[in-house]
Amino acid sequence: MTETKLFLNGDFKNSSDGKLIPQTNPATEQVFCEVSAASVADVQVAIDGAQQTFEREWRDLSPRKRTDILFNVAKVIRENLETLAQLESQNVGKPISDARDEIALGARVFEYYAGAITKFCGQTIPVARGGFDFTLRQPMGVVAAIVPWNFPFPIACWKVAPALAAGNTVVLKPASQSPLTAILLGQLAYQAGVPAGALQVVPGQGSVIGDALATHPLIRKVSFTGSTEIGSRIMGLAARDLKRVSLELGGKSPNIVFGDADIAQAAASSPMSVFANTGQDCCARSRMFVERRAFDQFVELFIAETKKIVVGDPALDATQLGPLVSANQRAVAEEFIEGARKAGRVIAHGGQRPSPKGFYLQPTIVLGAEPTDRVWQEEVFGPVVCIRPFDDEEQMLREVNASRYGLSASLWTNDLKRALRVSRRIESGVISINSHSSVHVEAPFGGFKQSGLGRDLGMAAMEGYTELKNIYVAE
Ligand code: NAD
Repeated sequence: MTETKLFLNGDFKNSSDGKLIPQTNPATEQVFCEVSAASVADVQVAIDGAQQTFEREWRDLSPRKRTDILFNVAKVIRENLETLAQLESQNVGKPISDARDEIALGARVFEYYAGAITKFCGQTIPVARGGFDFTLRQPMGVVAAIVPWNFPFPIACWKVAPALAAGNTVVLKPASQSPLTAILLGQLAYQAGVPAGALQVVPGQGSVIGDALATHPLIRKVSFTGSTEIGSRIMGLAARDLKRVSLELGGKSPNIVFGDADIAQAAASSPMSVFANTGQDCCARSRMFVERRAFDQFVELFIAETKKIVVGDPALDATQLGPLVSANQRAVAEEFIEGARKAGRVIAHGGQRPSPKGFYLQPTIVLGAEPTDRVWQEEVFGPVVCIRPFDDEEQMLREVNASRYGLSASLWTNDLKRALRVSRRIESGVISINSHSSVHVEAPFGGFKQSGLGRDLGMAAMEGYTELKNIYVAE
């Protein structure tokens, strides 16, 4: 049975005002369930419960016990992997094979932070006046975790696991389009031994409960992943009482291919660097810069590889791209494509709906875009890529960095010095060389400029869920 209620203090609850959010399967356009939408009063209950559990139970639990519980959460996630994957796929149209990988990633994140608890240390510092000086990393209290719909389960785990590991309690708000796996995570974590109240799940509309989460005095940190616009709003609200924030926001990431690279390998790998998850990926490499001498070869191979991508029913194992999450999300992508067409740009592939039912859109390749074009500058969050040639490394780098975003970047070259020189100059938080991977559980993930503030994953995330205290002992 699909759980559709708030998960508060170890139990399922209807929202206090009875409001519901219908959930649509993007592949069929059918509403398949309705989820309770938390009210501001429910958020208050969630925060109060989380604060009590923080003070009475979680903050002072021994590291060994906390470790055991979080390892157990990972185990329970794995035991329920298929159920979680099916729910995620149905809820957001994600291909089932990707959904399985993402649930397994969530379990790995819990394992990583379960293990980190007993390796997370302060320092001893030789201060000038003598005596003994040391630092403690202490939990903050209640953390609000607000997550988007594009990778609902893993991003929830990126926030919940390190926050709990560091000794905080969490109020998790999933996106209104994708609440189902978050609700189940709340229940599974509780079954695995996370005390009632330590992980509260409040599905609901950001416009209704977002402000309450970002302004409540007991919330000590807001950890947000979503659009730059809402991230900026949350930072403004949090500034009122100087709440800590971490923000993982939008992107318009470059993929840079130098002429000396293995062009066949780069072209084979690059389509899924932008089209995976139907382009609804903050790391999507949607601006491709290809050195002119390799441009024609790269584009030809890129188009050929794109044609091989299997677009279709997300329930099938072979499917690589499902529909977009909603009619609205597809309409936004189509508007970008139409704008490019009107400006006389070449749509070298795609641009059409491959099926009359479901929010599908073909992977779309735009050639001839200018740096001033909207489709080149703004995040589409759909399966649309622009490819442009470049002649000069300096000029290319200026264009790469002439973006308000700075999340991910890839570069392809066999010249090590160039790879290191260019990596230093790119204004992005995450760079991969001769690869497109951006996310490693063990390494920091986050953006420069308007792509965000603070880091998810790695030990950097765990630090971000603590306050640093210095203690001096006179001798
Ligand atoms: P969004 O900002 O609309 O929503 C994100 C979350 O914020 C949702 O839970 C939503 O309900 C909530 N929200 C909406 N209004 C709110 C408000 N006023 N106060 C508080 N919360 C509010 O973004 P989205 O459409 O869900 O996700 C797409 C965006 O997320 C893209 O821009 C994408 O690049 C970004 N994203 C970034 C990363 C990253 O790690 N940098 C990862 C995934 C997605």
